[in-house]
Amino acid sequence: MTTRYNITLEQLTQHLATLNEKPFRAKQIWEGLYQQCRPLSEITNVGADLRDHLGDFLPLALSEVVRRDGDHGTTTKWLWQSERDHTQIETVLMRYRDRATVCVSSQAGCAMACSFCATGQAGFERHLDVGEIVEQVVRAQHDSPQRVSNVVFMGMGEPLANLDAVWAATERIHADMGISARHITISTVGIVPGMRKLADLPLPVTLAVSLHAPDDELRDELVPINKRYPIAAVIEAAREYVARKGRRVTFEYACIERVNDQLVRAEALADLLRGFPGGAHVNLIPLNATAGFNGSPAGNLRIQNFANALTDRGVNATVRRNRGTDIDAACGQLRARNA
Ligand code: SF4
Repeated sequence: MTTRYNITLEQLTQHLATLNEKPFRAKQIWEGLYQQCRPLSEITNVGADLRDHLGDFLPLALSEVVRRDGDHGTTTKWLWQSERDHTQIETVLMRYRDRATVCVSSQAGCAMACSFCATGQAGFERHLDVGEIVEQVVRAQHDSPQRVSNVVFMGMGEPLANLDAVWAATERIHADMGISARHITISTVGIVPGMRKLADLPLPVTLAVSLHAPDDELRDELVPINKRYPIAAVIEAAREYVARKGRRVTFEYACIERVNDQLVRAEALADLLRGFPGGAHVNLIPLNATAGFNGSPAGNLRIQNFANALTDRGVNATVRRNRGTDIDAACGQLRARNA
């Protein structure tokens, strides 16, 4: 199915030629859709008849099911439904004083089955196509009073399990929407072959590795793909990424009270990451509690102590606060609630 944001510029140019439109029209429409990031109906340097035709020929891929605002209007979360098969996905826009970040989904559901994650608990449905990924960023921009400056592939799905579409979307977000590759973050739970493939691709995007445990025994439980790609292999692939791309890698760590937040684990994590090329950076995030997981977010003091233990041992750590807990903004929660 051809949709507004999966058609390529070449395909659009060919289609307009069949309508006897001048060649520059395709470029005008493309710039309107991406560079100026306007809804089709607002690209007014193109005649109304052509806009009407394109509205029918290039339908949107996603329809809004639920939209919620939280954090005093600075966080917006959408639950979308695919026009193709009614599968549901989520997107979050987080606005800060100096930037606006869109967190996009790359798959409907997820096959990785991380035990603490609402999306993992619900299982895998399908990969998203490039248009469905790009459309999430564009429609968040339509609703954002600030220019979207950052895109993070940290919504539903494992991005490296759908790398072709994720990469095509990344190129469009970068080249056509004008978002710096350094402001695009692709996260992974540690799909080692995908990390190597990403290192071969040209743009210097940021890689974020969701670690969540410093030892294989605990990580096997929290992130089952660890049995296939254990921690040592993941860290090695992350080192290779830094060497190839010259980009910093961040490590994500969801802090779960008395499961992975003990000081002994902070020490083990520091041992694992000390001397990481370019300096490893750990983001500590309190767990988003889900009904299907018997664990709770670590308290502020425990997380701060964990962070201090890392920094005392020479590993940078930042405590991140969860955005949108009042609107089910954690990955998979809004969809689970709406099921
Ligand atoms: S945490 Fe990410 S990779 Fe793991 S199940 Fe959830 S969406 Fe998938």
